[in-house]
Amino acid sequence: MSLSSGTPKFRVAICGAGIGGLVLAVTIGKFAGRDVQIDLYEAHDVITATGAGIVFSRRTMEVIEALGLYEEISCVSAKPPSSSQGPQFRKSDIPTGGFKWFQRLVGQSDPVTMHRQLLVDILKRHLPSSCTVHFNKRLTKYDKLSAGSLVLHFADDSTETTDVLIGADGIRSSVRKTLFETLDRDIVDSSKITHYTDASWTGTVVYRAILPAEKLSEIDPNNVALKEFVMVSPRESSHDGQE
Ligand SMILES: Cc1cc2nc3c(=O)[nH]c(=O)nc-3n(C[C@H](O)[C@H](O)[C@H](O)COP(=O)(O)OP(=O)(O)OC[C@H]3O[C@@H](n4cnc5c(N)ncnc54)[C@H](O)[C@@H]3O)c2cc1C
Repeated sequence: MSLSSGTPKFRVAICGAGIGGLVLAVTIGKFAGRDVQIDLYEAHDVITATGAGIVFSRRTMEVIEALGLYEEISCVSAKPPSSSQGPQFRKSDIPTGGFKWFQRLVGQSDPVTMHRQLLVDILKRHLPSSCTVHFNKRLTKYDKLSAGSLVLHFADDSTETTDVLIGADGIRSSVRKTLFETLDRDIVDSSKITHYTDASWTGTVVYRAILPAEKLSEIDPNNVALKEFVMVSPRESSHDGQE
């Protein structure tokens, strides 16, 4: 329920229109109505999804329900086969079988799976009227103008002001980088700044691919993935990061 007065009380800039930025904009719109003016700045010229499927955990579904999106998500999510015993997990260094080392607990529901683009499309449809999306706006850094006022700098040399800035700009976040680079040196050790700001590879690789179930059925009609939601977890990396 919104207790909005109709006149914005302050402005929030969200940097990045990925799933995080979109969910935040929808949430502010739902609970603050027009009390909060939202400016959503996206580096690209469209809002799109990278990757293929996404799995919603129980907690995520609670958030989806609170946002009133449950029905729409349910309509487009993938339904497990009626024979499903629940998700199957196995370690990839077990050559065959080994799927049963994790099983659904009694009463636990299956995780919800869907294509990422369908999720993004639903979130886009629910962006509130208090939200303006600005495309081709890649934030490079921000400065403090005064208490409670920030100036945002973009790659096209333009600037904007805001009261609150929230970084939802992904793994190579410019917001996080600026935050750590401008923090008081008593708070953050300067020798650790790149560790906090620059993404580095942990040594784990995830392979993902999409193929039609009919094709898999032709090649391997008994493949477990035709009956269950299957995840194959990576084996542990050795200490030097080699797989
Ligand atoms: C292989 C893989 C599988 C995953 N599977 C799942 C899953 O099944 N379930 C799950 O819950 N999570 C999953 N995750 C995690 C999930 O995908 C991420 O946590 C989520 O996408 C992060 O969303 P985000 O909006 O924070 O960032 P992003 O999706 O990275 O979006 C960032 C947005 O910011 C924009 N941007 C970047 N820099 C700037 C800038 N300087 N200025 C303006 N805009 C900028 C980008 O263009 C992009 O639109 C998976 C991740 C990976 C890699």
